[in-house]
Amino acid sequence: MAEVRHIEEIRNIGIMAHIDAGKTTTTERVLYYTGVSHRIGDVDKGNTQMDWMELEQERGITITSAATTCSWRDRQINIIDTPGHVDFTIEVERSLRVLDGGIVVLCAVGRVQPQTETVWRQADKYRVPRIILVNKMDRTGADFFKCVAEIKDKLKAVPVPLQIPVGSAETFRGSVDLIEMKAYIFDVPLGATFHVEEIPGDLLDDAMKARQELCEKAAESDDALLETYLAGGELTNDEIRSALRKGTIQNKIIPVLCGSAFRNKGVQQLLDAVVDYLPSPADIPPVEGLSPKGRNGHRELIVEERPADAGAPFSALAFKIMNDQYMGQLTFIRVYSGTIKTGGVVLNSTRDMAERAVKLVRIHANKREEAASISAGDIAGIVGLKNTVTGDTLCAKEAPIILQSLEIPQPVIDLSIAPKSKADEEKLFSSLRRLHLEDPSFKFFTNQETGQTILSGMGELHLEIIVDRLFREYNVTAVVGKPQVSYRETIRKTVESEGKYIRQSGGRGQFGHVKLLIEPLESGKGFIFCEKIVGGAIPREFFTAIEKGVKEALETGPVAGNPVTDLMVTLIDGSYHEVDSSELAFKLAGSIALKDGVRKAGPIILEPIMGMEVICPDEYIGDVLGHVSSKRGKIVRLESQNGIQTAAVEIPLSEVFGYTTTLRSMTQGRGTHSMQFSHYYPVPQAVAEELINKVRG
Ligand code: GDP
Repeated sequence: MAEVRHIEEIRNIGIMAHIDAGKTTTTERVLYYTGVSHRIGDVDKGNTQMDWMELEQERGITITSAATTCSWRDRQINIIDTPGHVDFTIEVERSLRVLDGGIVVLCAVGRVQPQTETVWRQADKYRVPRIILVNKMDRTGADFFKCVAEIKDKLKAVPVPLQIPVGSAETFRGSVDLIEMKAYIFDVPLGATFHVEEIPGDLLDDAMKARQELCEKAAESDDALLETYLAGGELTNDEIRSALRKGTIQNKIIPVLCGSAFRNKGVQQLLDAVVDYLPSPADIPPVEGLSPKGRNGHRELIVEERPADAGAPFSALAFKIMNDQYMGQLTFIRVYSGTIKTGGVVLNSTRDMAERAVKLVRIHANKREEAASISAGDIAGIVGLKNTVTGDTLCAKEAPIILQSLEIPQPVIDLSIAPKSKADEEKLFSSLRRLHLEDPSFKFFTNQETGQTILSGMGELHLEIIVDRLFREYNVTAVVGKPQVSYRETIRKTVESEGKYIRQSGGRGQFGHVKLLIEPLESGKGFIFCEKIVGGAIPREFFTAIEKGVKEALETGPVAGNPVTDLMVTLIDGSYHEVDSSELAFKLAGSIALKDGVRKAGPIILEPIMGMEVICPDEYIGDVLGHVSSKRGKIVRLESQNGIQTAAVEIPLSEVFGYTTTLRSMTQGRGTHSMQFSHYYPVPQAVAEELINKVRG
């Protein structure tokens, strides 16, 4: 059975990086030094402990985010794996939501790269305290101080180096610890063990200067220390550490370390810094949520808090659902308050359903360990939950609360899929349902006009991986189409509409009759359904059927058959028949009313606009920007530094398919770009006509 830790002894951390900066290698080395793994895996050989999915190993990228538990200096560290690729932002967001602190890995040569900035901004949004590891100090061109400067300039953060490197590139041997004022020199050639030495003479001046800056930053984080410091007093090493901890937790400073994960240099010091400077769950503000009482139509909101205390009412967020080869379906939860016990029944407040925790499991890189209970601040997997979807809240029945869910990004790319046989068709739908449960940013639906099954995702790679998993993990045989832009439709006017489904010619008939109020919502708000039926015009038991009918009708909009979004539908009136009314009749009436209403409400087509960042040398920027303008793009920001231009633009997704190739030929391979969904926006008339003509044949 797993040990129970006190909340102050827990660290929930994530490791974030630009692709290739060394996140996987660092995680792997951390697991090695914490004694979980007994062999140093090597990413290049594809046998790391965390990337258990065959697919990830082949691609060499990390997709899913798993929580792995290890320990260092009597603290329990839960590592929540975060992917680097922007196509998987939901994975990044979901882990940021549940972790308390982060290690950001930079490559000492590549320094602050575009994805570093993306994850940095995401971490800012969740106010995650961070430390930085400047990795790959052994590579030619490694420059620790330039990295520190870029942390200041590009990330707008306040870096505080805790170390300075001893040697660089092929001479990199270790670091000077600026608090202890000693040098930690790693035993060559493969590091792993180190010894403590006096600071090398040629580094002494630099080290003294850097220590002074460190002391200043520490003092600024603690008023009492500042007084001592300004009065010329010396700070003790413990005082420095505790002030730096305070500053880091308050998001005022970023401790910076250096190392080479690949050569096993600096990992122990990194783990020390995790324990010393990153917050425990007790250091962060209590979690907030909404009382389910205020849920109806989102009109009345009652905010509640839960303290990070094992004795408080239980509340937890399900942040990941994963298929474990030994345990079956595992739901990962972050417990914010209270305690859950094996066999305990809890409420899924998001869905208003009871769930039983059959087993509680902690996952280590190479073993699973059952726990009798999991308390506030901890992260673990549950076996036995049946209806819980990623983002749902679990809580005590007597104290219901709905925690803020994850921000689920909108899918912007579609792919049609056609199963090869009847057997494949059944397998396809059950597999798709499962994949959606795991990853709600992936959706699927049937286009009612064409009968085609459509998969929707956040990017070409996201869908490619879903299809790959369908084929390999679920053994579905199917033909897939080409990726297409995922258009949406929305409305511009508020309307009332009526739908009737009445068949009464002899025998038992059908009777469903509804009136709906259909109102436009702000962009990005999705779909809200509520009801305001008075005097029992329609019995409550038919509401779900009506909502279902409305939802189905929303999948195929009236302009060009795209899903309809950003609207609120309120069931306001209707009538029923004692004998002839049925769920089916009300579902159909709901569909009819919705379709008719949307048609009258000034429907338009929306297209996804991407936020794109292009980086290239000065001489190509003219061509790059000219191309952006010719493709309906808008330049948002342009920065130039040392002959390199960085352009932030907004551009319709339909105009940037295959942009990698275009950019390569425009910049002779010297430009790079990254892209992320920004928002949906109405298409120009000419494009709308083209899309309409395409559907109408
Ligand atoms: P990730 O994409 O951030 O997970 O990066 P990986 O850990 O997969 O590393 C990317 C590549 O960089 C691999 O070939 C690693 O062997 C290599 N690498 C990682 N850390 C270091 C390092 O400290 N020094 C050097 N020279 N290479 C490293």
